[in-house]
Amino acid sequence: MGSESQISDRWQAVNRHVALASEASGRNPEDICILAVSKTFPLSAVEEAWRAGARHFGENYVQEAVEKIQACTLPDAQWHFIGPLQSNKTRQVAEHFAWVHTVERLKIARRLHEQRPAELPPLQVCLQVNISADPNKAGLAPEDVPALATEIARLDRLTLRGLMTIPAADQSAQQLEGDFVRMSELLADLQTRHPQADTLSMGMSDDLELAIAHGSTCVRVGRGIFGERARKTD
Ligand SMILES: *Cc1c(COP(=O)(O)O)cnc(C)c1O
Repeated sequence: MGSESQISDRWQAVNRHVALASEASGRNPEDICILAVSKTFPLSAVEEAWRAGARHFGENYVQEAVEKIQACTLPDAQWHFIGPLQSNKTRQVAEHFAWVHTVERLKIARRLHEQRPAELPPLQVCLQVNISADPNKAGLAPEDVPALATEIARLDRLTLRGLMTIPAADQSAQQLEGDFVRMSELLADLQTRHPQADTLSMGMSDDLELAIAHGSTCVRVGRGIFGERARKTD
């Protein structure tokens, strides 16, 4: 667990990294959201990151996340669900999160739509794409994106915001770049029919420069901000 100044220092370092990567690819760093992945870390760590400037927080485990969200009093913290989502957890997600990055099935999308409380704004959703066709990774095949997007666009308690991916880990730099290129093409194609889909959730600590060079608008960084996790999570 990092001390307050460590979390703040790491947050600043990640921001510099994103700023340099943005400059290198002629992009505005303000167009890139740094999602602080706070899974396994306590609310006190989230609060420290918030004081350093973080506003978007990513969580993978519904129960753990809901406890944090309910205890959290930070006015403008935005909670993003980025973990695998089963049917029996959709209500909790629909009631507590602003975003879900990991929608891959219509059944789950329909439940989120039905369970999103009327007093909240629509849930912001990204479709998770298994861009490396990795049998161990979640996500839908690229060719299945248009049909699911069309169905989700009909659900008025959801707003389709874009695509998310976790590329296979064991790839060459060239293969990884190919995945990022295909994700940016897939988003461009999606935008022709769904112009509000402006989000590409792509890139983590080790590959955020390449992801930003290929159009990422949201990089997801956990340990680079909060330090090493005590327990293994994936
Ligand atoms: C845990 C996680 C991250 C962050 O990983 P770190 O290694 O902590 O930076 C990013 N994206 C997803 C989907 C994750 O589950």
